[in-house]
Amino acid sequence: MAWFKKARKPIAPAKDKASRVPEGLWVKCPECSQIIYNKDLATNLSVCPKCAHHFRVNATERLKMLFDGEWVEHDADLVSTDPLGFTDTKPYKARLEASIAATGMKDAVVVASGVVDGIPAVVAAMEYGFIGGSMGVVVGEKITRAIERAIERRAPVIIVCCSGGARMMEGALSLMQMAKICGALARLDRARLPYISVLTDPTTGGVTASFAMLGDLNIGEPKALIGFAGPRVIEQTIRQKLPEGFQRSEFLLEKGMLDQVVDRREMKALISFALRFMGAKRAPATAPPPPPVEVAAEPAAQT
Ligand SMILES: [Zn+2]
Repeated sequence: MAWFKKARKPIAPAKDKASRVPEGLWVKCPECSQIIYNKDLATNLSVCPKCAHHFRVNATERLKMLFDGEWVEHDADLVSTDPLGFTDTKPYKARLEASIAATGMKDAVVVASGVVDGIPAVVAAMEYGFIGGSMGVVVGEKITRAIERAIERRAPVIIVCCSGGARMMEGALSLMQMAKICGALARLDRARLPYISVLTDPTTGGVTASFAMLGDLNIGEPKALIGFAGPRVIEQTIRQKLPEGFQRSEFLLEKGMLDQVVDRREMKALISFALRFMGAKRAPATAPPPPPVEVAAEPAAQT
């Protein structure tokens, strides 16, 4: 006989009671493990309030953060034609269709014009959720057209980079976009219009190797991964251990590859300040026109 006996049944865990916290209402910060209320995170521009970890945000969020209000999207219907008929683990066509269905976008960049702190500007924001934000023919064309549109309107260009690089499935055609966009940026420069590049996590490959690094001002977000080849490839090639923080914004700033590392919450203010410094003008206020001057009350000027 046992010395101790459980006199009562153990309290059964409430099995059937569903959790009162709906899923997706809270998010855990990967940096400091702080549990953050989703709405708080959104009002804080997806930056952890405790440790300032910058969560990834999509292209639409980027536009919302920069523009004062509404914006006009351009070339939203451009779609890749799969020029090589490419297939890797699955056909590129199927990959495109899946990404279009998942993001509601036709390719990995949104181009829009609107007003940034009173200054009319053209903004291109890349979408990492669309095949890793990779740059194919459509991304190249949309960004080039954005720059050309800016030249036409004498407006500054802001590109928010977030990309894994050139799109392998479009081969050499992707690589040509690097030269095409750089050519357009050269024309923007000749037109004496500013271009600000915002490098976010991650900016790599052909995007870093072309337009991302060509800004009149290259601004990085804190701790963003910015590089050309990945650290593993570099380590294997040079057979050396890479230093701490390699390919992060702060490291690049120290080495002179970036002009500034800016918290997302201060990004818009800094961009607006920089644009005004570079000569961009605020649009005339859309306030109602002044009341008509009463001519009759004025004595006629003596001649
Ligand atoms: Zn945190």
